[in-house]
Amino acid sequence: MEAKFWINYPQERIEGEMYKYRCSYCKVETTAINGLIENHKKDCVFRKEQEKTFKQTILQKSHIDVNQIRGADETD
Ligand SMILES: [Zn+2]
Repeated sequence: MEAKFWINYPQERIEGEMYKYRCSYCKVETTAINGLIENHKKDCVFRKEQEKTFKQTILQKSHIDVNQIRGADETD
């Protein structure tokens, strides 16, 4: 699902490793995360924030859908 793909989490370089980066919250390597929110640790601040936003988006969408169904009923 496209909406679950996030790469905008704060990253920091792993000390002593030239090209390795990790999430600065949960310290999981970027290569292990691979852009997927569920690859962050469960208690990762970034993951929690994104999941909150994601749930809100779903709620907003279903609210819109209800309105659209209502609108369709009125026109018929
Ligand atoms: Zn993380």
